Amino acid sequence: MRRAARIDANQPEIVEALRKAGCRVQPLHMVGKGCPDIVAWTPNKGRLVFLEIKDGAKPPSARKLTADEENWHGVWSDLKDAGALYVVASVDEALQALGAV
Ligand SMILES: [Mg+2]
Repeated sequence: MRRAARIDANQPEIVEALRKAGCRVQPLHMVGKGCPDIVAWTPNKGRLVFLEIKDGAKPPSARKLTADEENWHGVWSDLKDAGALYVVASVDEALQALGAV
């Protein structure tokens, strides 16, 4: 599915900010099927976090999880419970999710 390979407009700045903060980042947006957009590791915190990125410049209705994403988050809900799965719409939210701020 073509849309699976698209990235959110703010993904590059979020990836750059996380890397500047010392996180290792692996983009996963090309996986599709509701898989989160990136996985990131914070060595000094020992945190591995999956992030679904939403474009904070878009209206809230356009920032909702897609059906595929809802399904993925449902299957992996224990990851969310464990603090390893977040939906973020800004650099600040991403840094907070990684405990990098
Ligand atoms: Mg996304």
